[in-house]
Amino acid sequence: MSNITSDDVVDELRKVKGPDFESDIVSLGLVSEIFISDGKVFFSITVPDERAQELEPLRQAAQKVVEAMDGVKAAIVTLTAEKKGSANATETANSAAPHKGPAKRIVVEPGHAAPKIARASHGIGEKMPIDGVKHIIAVASGKGGVGKSTTAINLALALADKGLKVGLLDADIYGPSLPRLTGLINQRPRAVEGNKLETLEKFGLKLMSMGFLVDEDRPMVWRGPMVMSAVTQFLRDVLWGPLDVLVVDMPPGTGDAQLTLAQQVPMTGAVIVSTPQDLALVDARKGIEMFTKVGVPILGVIENMSYFIAPDTGKRYDIFGHGGARNEAHHRQVPFLGEIPLDPDVRALSDAGTPVYIAKPQSTFAKLYSEIADRLKSNLL
Ligand code: ADP
Repeated sequence: MSNITSDDVVDELRKVKGPDFESDIVSLGLVSEIFISDGKVFFSITVPDERAQELEPLRQAAQKVVEAMDGVKAAIVTLTAEKKGSANATETANSAAPHKGPAKRIVVEPGHAAPKIARASHGIGEKMPIDGVKHIIAVASGKGGVGKSTTAINLALALADKGLKVGLLDADIYGPSLPRLTGLINQRPRAVEGNKLETLEKFGLKLMSMGFLVDEDRPMVWRGPMVMSAVTQFLRDVLWGPLDVLVVDMPPGTGDAQLTLAQQVPMTGAVIVSTPQDLALVDARKGIEMFTKVGVPILGVIENMSYFIAPDTGKRYDIFGHGGARNEAHHRQVPFLGEIPLDPDVRALSDAGTPVYIAKPQSTFAKLYSEIADRLKSNLL
């Protein structure tokens, strides 16, 4: 396998036309610094913020061209907004990672212990505690692909390391990630006591995910009310207790479903995960506003994929425009919890079913999560 260089990548990227099919993205100066590690190529493309959604095909084209190169294992391509100092960018954005949102559909097969979609939702303002659970922390992001699930599991593990009893609910019905993140691929929770479900357990965490109940490869279209009902049942009809903390990996977005969820259970607070890009920050801001609106305290903002330390040289690269989330938190007067670097191992380890906190306990990554867990723990007394 040949060793590719950033010049090789740049040459390939000349094949990708600019936003209006004029020239190419390299000549237009839209491509960031390119970082390559272990066959994985990281870079971003600058686009006008209001055109982010429309230009998703451009991002995909760039990713495809680079991934087709000999010697490239993966390309992690993100769209970054042009700096205009504006706060009114459009809602949609793209991420440093392949989006795993609604496109990945799942099915409930007859015979599986799928949650019934019958229970009426609770009225607005009615927050019922969950049996045996002292604290509920939501981990949320305005959009998919920013590392919300990765953050949720590593944070849950770091909290468990502090001696707390911790559960993790993967409430991302559209794209459940917990089976992959834990390697619990073919295990199904047991139904007990009538309608109750037992959690699965791994790494000392109690776990539940739609991915444990359904077959990922078969399609099923979820509609908003069904999503809410399924999530509500995961909260109410799973034997969670006794737990000090239940970490809820929220569905991505800040729409009605997220709002309802935030209204249904008494949350100790929410942690907002964002990448440093302007586009992601717009969504993070919406997340802060949404939780604030329903009286859920913001425990803080985490900037994920904040910067990159080259494993070989130790040199730091700010390819994604590090620092944006800290400024945003400061601006919104909510705590800033920390900056998590982009670590090329994270994805591989996650895919192999071992979160980085477990696989590399001495890593910067694990230490940073431990520090964030300490900060969060002070909210849990
Ligand atoms: P979300 O829950 O926001 O959709 P995920 O946690 O699934 O995002 O992360 C999206 C992808 O990015 C995954 O492949 C994950 O392994 C990778 N990833 C997340 N955080 C990091 C990081 N700090 N460094 C490198 N890769 C990361």
